[in-house]
Amino acid sequence: MHISLIDLKRQYETIAEDANREALDVLSGAQYIMGKNVKEFEKEFCEYVGVKHSISVGNGTDALIIALKALGIGEGDEVITTPYTFFATAESISFVGATPVFVDVKLDTFNIDPSKVEEKITDKTKAIMPVHIFGQPCDMDAINEIAKKHNLYVIEDAAQAIGSEYKGKMIGSLSDIATFSFFPTKNLGCAGDGGMIVTNNDELATICKALKAHGSGENGQKAFNLLNDIDGEIAADDSSDNTVYNPLKYYNYLIGHNSRLDEIQAAILRVKLRELNKWNDGRRANAEFYNEGLKDTNLVTPYEDKDVKHIYHLYILQSEKRAELVSYLGEKGIATGVYYPVPLHLQKAYVNLGYKEGDLPNAEHLSHRTFAIPMFAELTDEEKTYIVETIKEFGE
Ligand SMILES: *Cc1c(COP(=O)(O)O)cnc(C)c1O
Repeated sequence: MHISLIDLKRQYETIAEDANREALDVLSGAQYIMGKNVKEFEKEFCEYVGVKHSISVGNGTDALIIALKALGIGEGDEVITTPYTFFATAESISFVGATPVFVDVKLDTFNIDPSKVEEKITDKTKAIMPVHIFGQPCDMDAINEIAKKHNLYVIEDAAQAIGSEYKGKMIGSLSDIATFSFFPTKNLGCAGDGGMIVTNNDELATICKALKAHGSGENGQKAFNLLNDIDGEIAADDSSDNTVYNPLKYYNYLIGHNSRLDEIQAAILRVKLRELNKWNDGRRANAEFYNEGLKDTNLVTPYEDKDVKHIYHLYILQSEKRAELVSYLGEKGIATGVYYPVPLHLQKAYVNLGYKEGDLPNAEHLSHRTFAIPMFAELTDEEKTYIVETIKEFGE
């Protein structure tokens, strides 16, 4: 038996007919940029997450960068975040010229520990960027309370948590601005790269729309006026907001990006969004199966915080004998992945920040012990049983 960590082919087969038809419709329709699928997907995404604005972009990293820029964060500013995440979280902060300030995580949720945030706040701190790692929601009430007290923005990096809930509310709807990734292996993945920014704030939405498209056009003009406190009339042209024919396209108001979700990706994502809750429920059922099957071993199974719905982007185990166990499973045809082997404060790219081993002990502890086993909705009972039995055979 061979079982991959995530089997994208099997997922594709369940939606092939619809996805193929929609993708081919885009091809034959020849409206490849900012067409009807992008507009409809943004609307459907707003409904799904429960937010006012969704701004699609080229990938999840751009989403973070544009969100930070829209908040005016840059040179000389500090943003508090977690060291136990994918590199893009901190990279985006550095990319806009600000400094990531790492706060240790909790050993149970793997998420930023709100009780350690306040001691890291300085007069340069502008925002807190929590990451709902592996699909487990952060303690947003605690984070928002600290942010409010110190007048900081909160940016949720929700790349791994589409469909996760915190106290009955969707992840992504609990902060000033939040970002998602549609990288193929994410819970809602496209057939390439894609990302989304969401917010309930009209002004931030306008600035993000301007920044993603060279700061040009109507959104560029509106964003320029907002940023410069100009109350001026806007030469509205609602006849068509198709980029190709927009008369304001060659008038640029801000230095922006070229970061768009492709029409063909939006068409595929619309098909997949309809299946997402079912897939996430499948993941939760698989997690329950694993938890039950592994409860008598020495492995630490994932904790699900109270008042949350965890969507198990990855199912993470902890073992003292990670290297041996991972290699044993590999021999038996079971794929595994190590997330994350190097916490960000110890990455070479951040030596200039001066962190050393021992500074953030929980993140470091986890980085030596955590690994992922196969997790996707289409896993069969036979496969899950084989995985559990093989792990037990190893005798941890
Ligand atoms: C995947 C991911 C990103 C980046 O998304 P891309 O679409 O790959 O650019 C950012 N943050 C986290 C936590 C991620 O998992």
